[in-house]
Amino acid sequence: MRLVFLGPPGSGKGTQATMVGEKLGVPQISTGDILREAVALKTDLGEKAKSYLDSGRLVPDDVVLSLVDKRVGEADCAGGFVLDGFPRTLAQALGIEEILAKRDQVIDAVVFIEVDDEVVLGRLSRRRVCPQCKALYNLEADPPRENEKCDRCGVDLVLRSDDRDDTIRTRLGVYRKDTLPLVEYYESRGLLRKVNGGAEIQDVFSAVMQEITKVGKN
Ligand code: AMP
Repeated sequence: MRLVFLGPPGSGKGTQATMVGEKLGVPQISTGDILREAVALKTDLGEKAKSYLDSGRLVPDDVVLSLVDKRVGEADCAGGFVLDGFPRTLAQALGIEEILAKRDQVIDAVVFIEVDDEVVLGRLSRRRVCPQCKALYNLEADPPRENEKCDRCGVDLVLRSDDRDDTIRTRLGVYRKDTLPLVEYYESRGLLRKVNGGAEIQDVFSAVMQEITKVGKN
């Protein structure tokens, strides 16, 4: 199954996409993770992307499309994948369709995680990430066992540099302008599955799985 997770920053789409990927046994592909890693490793891609990530703006479509094209062509994606944080613009949505069409593939469903702005702002300021394994935590809703240390790696969790207040506002503005139109686009194509992202992680996961199991049955 080839799935897209759509939602504002802080909607929990990364957490849900990871859980669904594990459940279905397919890779979760986060363009944000790939770009952050490239920035950390100072690769050519990282050099191109850095200023966009730092300011909360979108990396140009051609750059993101070429990295996704390469990633979905890898062997572990043959049985499906979960796209997290991509597509984020209409050009990217059209681009991934072309990329998949070359391989006689399509997107099977788009899970849209809906949450209010206040919830998003609260969640992002409490979000912490493991700099090593990229596991996500929320200091209130999903805290690590030991004070701000990763359960798996034991290293100190960090606040993502773009989870600071001013950058969060930019990211929400970008989301509304560039990404929200995709909801209508996918709705018109009959692919959209809406889930309320304001509930507890496990409850959202159950709702997401319920939607996914309906795919192809109606
Ligand atoms: P995320 O981890 O999905 O919140 O993404 C973090 C940042 O990476 C975004 O604010 C953008 O600067 C960049 N980014 C991630 N995915 C994309 C995408 N599909 N298109 C453009 N920029 C992206």
